[in-house]
Amino acid sequence: MAAASSSTEINKNKSRNQNYDLDWLKHTNANQFLTEERRLINNLKSSSVDRGSQKKMSRYNGEINRMTYEQVLHELNRKNLSITGELDLLKRRLKHHYKAELLNNDHLGRSPLETYQQRYEYLAVIDFEATCDENQPENYQHEIIEFPIVLIHVQTVTITDTFRSFCRPVLKPILSDYCQKLTGITQEQVDAAPEFPETLKNVENWLNDRNLLSSKRKCAFVTDGPWDMAKFLRLQCYLSNIEYPHWAKKWINVRKAFGSFYSTKRCGILAMLSKLGLNFDGHRHSGLDDSINIAKITMELIKDGCVLIVNEFHRPTDVRSDPVDSSQNCLFDTNGDDFDPQQQEEDDKIIQFISEEDDKTLHFISEEQESEKESIQHLGKLLPVTVTKEQSQRKLSYHLGDLLK
Ligand code: AMP
Ligand code: MG
Repeated sequence: MAAASSSTEINKNKSRNQNYDLDWLKHTNANQFLTEERRLINNLKSSSVDRGSQKKMSRYNGEINRMTYEQVLHELNRKNLSITGELDLLKRRLKHHYKAELLNNDHLGRSPLETYQQRYEYLAVIDFEATCDENQPENYQHEIIEFPIVLIHVQTVTITDTFRSFCRPVLKPILSDYCQKLTGITQEQVDAAPEFPETLKNVENWLNDRNLLSSKRKCAFVTDGPWDMAKFLRLQCYLSNIEYPHWAKKWINVRKAFGSFYSTKRCGILAMLSKLGLNFDGHRHSGLDDSINIAKITMELIKDGCVLIVNEFHRPTDVRSDPVDSSQNCLFDTNGDDFDPQQQEEDDKIIQFISEEDDKTLHFISEEQESEKESIQHLGKLLPVTVTKEQSQRKLSYHLGDLLK
């Protein structure tokens, strides 16, 4: 008994240590990600915030917190900003606007939010639909049945293109009534569709025709939550016995970006739309309609000045491990829109890198005088999270020279 528990303890420690061992960085695109991150930090460092502006910002924030709904609407109108959304979100919108005004004195005629430089020319929203059943077991083998893409041109904040393919499942070729009702996808549609490997080829051709896979800064992928890539695509590639596509190894989880930017708990599509004062258009759980609505949320974030950056990605081991046996195999909640802290904890376990949104990066920069300590803490947020602050600081101070070189 004692031996068993001590070996469990050793295993626990081993996996903890593995989690903060940075050696694997050498074998993953994480290095590339950190390089980009470092560039962002350097760019932001050059636009330092003086103490006076910081004080002003705190004062404005206090004033906004005390405003009534009517006063907030009045201010938003005066600033030509959107007045749709819940009060808390409207207050955040105003705060971000004031902050942008303080940070960008030279916005000359433009909205100060427009001076934030977005990182990607295009954002491609993906929302898979998969086979499912009413009382499916935890290890149910979902097969992708719809692969949609909605392309956002970031500068003009418009949807410029869409792609949609249905996909024929192999393990369970007959869709359950439950699945057809949930997704709106019919048996005829999947029967007439190609199997997944061919669908993926068509997707990649479509992306290549638009030159979206060629340059790393040009296009990033957006999903609602981590499951589209971390669960559905990973499982499907495993089932189809094909390599997990390189371009899908990192993505922007819009829930996470939304929660962080508007300082609200993470929530699903319907709740995010409702906070923005918008309705869901179309059929919930249709992949294309879900993607269009995720795109609407993404575009509101852009308009409100959120600089969207990749905030989740796979470790090579995540991609290679057996997705069927994995405890990560059933992460979505029943209706996809309720916040579930336990689920969030699960997400965070599979998400090894957490990138902070622009807001917090700016905060880090504004306290530049403590630069080394802050850099360590900031990078700590990009690194595996299952270590204590002291451990990560010790480890990171050791690696800092290399990472920030
Ligand atoms: P979503 O993107 O939320 O539409 O969900 C993606 C896939 O997750 C669906 O196509 C289903 O395979 C599965 N799913 C979502 N919600 C449910 C649910 N309430 N019951 C069973 N499966 C679901
Ligand atoms: Mg969906």
